[in-house]
Amino acid sequence: MHFGIVGSGIIGLTTALELQENFPNAKVTILADRFNEDTTSYVAAGIFRPGTSFMGPTPEITQQWMSDAFYYWDDLRRSKEAALAGVCQLSGYIFSSTSPSIVRNHFIEKLLPIYRQATEEELKLCQGNWKYGSFFTTCITESRLFLPYATKKFKDAGGIVMYHHVNSLKNLPENYDVVVNCTGMGAKELCSDQQLVPIRGQILKVRAPWIKTAFYGDYDTYIVPGFETVTLGGCRQYDSYNTEVCKYDTMAIKERCYNMLPSLKNAEVVREMVGLRPHRSIVRVETDIVHRSQDGRPVKIVHNYGHGGYGVTTAPGTAKYAVKLVRETLVGNSKL
Ligand SMILES: Cc1cc2nc3c(=O)[nH]c(=O)nc-3n(C[C@H](O)[C@H](O)[C@H](O)COP(=O)(O)OP(=O)(O)OC[C@H]3O[C@@H](n4cnc5c(N)ncnc54)[C@H](O)[C@@H]3O)c2cc1C
Repeated sequence: MHFGIVGSGIIGLTTALELQENFPNAKVTILADRFNEDTTSYVAAGIFRPGTSFMGPTPEITQQWMSDAFYYWDDLRRSKEAALAGVCQLSGYIFSSTSPSIVRNHFIEKLLPIYRQATEEELKLCQGNWKYGSFFTTCITESRLFLPYATKKFKDAGGIVMYHHVNSLKNLPENYDVVVNCTGMGAKELCSDQQLVPIRGQILKVRAPWIKTAFYGDYDTYIVPGFETVTLGGCRQYDSYNTEVCKYDTMAIKERCYNMLPSLKNAEVVREMVGLRPHRSIVRVETDIVHRSQDGRPVKIVHNYGHGGYGVTTAPGTAKYAVKLVRETLVGNSKL
């Protein structure tokens, strides 16, 4: 058995590990043209906090993805591998000055160990006219650590990683029993998918070891402490392909974060990064068939892309579901 995975971001790597676990005797090859810090996954703050509009094929499947993903991250956090994998626990607040619904989250209110309404005192923890708030305890996965950790784990278990730009899923370098397409924004071209839209994000990484709590405020403002730096964000620019740092976004992010926590003004800016979130109104995890250009033979495909701003959160959940589809495809039980 030989599986191909196109993509080496958080979706490709979690899918590759899940495939190896389910098919220990299979050969698994990852093909990708970007790795580690050149991927969108590397830019993510990595907090486990899905947006409430995140959607899989059905609400039940989406909730299953959430719980599978949370328990994967939480088990890893409890394991001796946690520091190597870049996973730890994090608590934080989400505040809003306008609407109580912004601070609620039906996906995680029952899933996380703590998700509760903030008290009046807590609403005053950082500057702003906060009327509504929630406090929660969750996981954070730092891709800077997780991507190389997962790649090593994959290779140690016999996995092969190849640099390869895929022009078409009909024209792959080898024959695979099933190919899993984890190409994020790359799927727009590979699958001619008009539903896939970039939502541009920009962040600053600052050195502020005194910040131990995450804060979310109005206008996509967030302050998320990681292992070595604190991520300050952000923005969500729909259908923007600009991958350059924009000085106006930097100014706006600084102003909004400094307003919330003035001590951040003293934090050294270590790095600025931009990423294009691969957004799809329904995340695409489904089977497909294409026919090889050379000889017209069918190639079984399982797509796994379109996670938008929540790919780190949900990766292990959609990986598990994608591998279930791989198994169904092999036993001829899929709806193809
Ligand atoms: C500013 C910002 C903050 C974020 N914060 C969070 C957060 O806190 N929590 C969270 O859950 N999510 C967050 N996200 C979202 C998260 O980063 C994405 O959902 C996730 O990275 C998508 O992963 P991916 O593997 O699909 O894509 P990528 O990481 O982009 O990986 C795609 C892979 O496919 C390969 N590929 C594509 N096309 C081809 C091709 N033709 N041939 C060969 N290889 C190809 C690439 O080389 C790459 O290896 C954030 C995103 C941004 C931009």
